[in-house]
Amino acid sequence: MATPAPSRDRRVIEINGVRKHFAECTTETDGNVCGARSSLWDNPLRPNAWMRAHADETGHGTYDRCWSEPVTVPAKNTTDGRRQSAPT
Ligand SMILES: [Zn+2]
Repeated sequence: MATPAPSRDRRVIEINGVRKHFAECTTETDGNVCGARSSLWDNPLRPNAWMRAHADETGHGTYDRCWSEPVTVPAKNTTDGRRQSAPT
C-alpha cells in the first residue's frame, strides 16, 4: 500500500515558549519498562546528570533523552468562515 502524499496544509506552527529538556528511563526489568522521568530543564545538560544519578541508584542503563517545546497551531476555519469556539 502506498504511503499517502504529505498534505499541502501550510498553517504555521508557532513556537511560543522555551524548549525544555528531560530524560526518561527505558530500561526493562521483568518485562516492565521503568519509565522514571526527570524534571524539565532549560539546560540540555541537566538530563545527563539525572541519567547518571538514576543509573547509579538503580543500575538502569537505557534512556530516551527528549525535549519538549510549546507551540500554537491555528485550527482550520469552520464551513461558515468563523473559528469554532468552545462551549462556554
Ligand atoms: Zn529506571
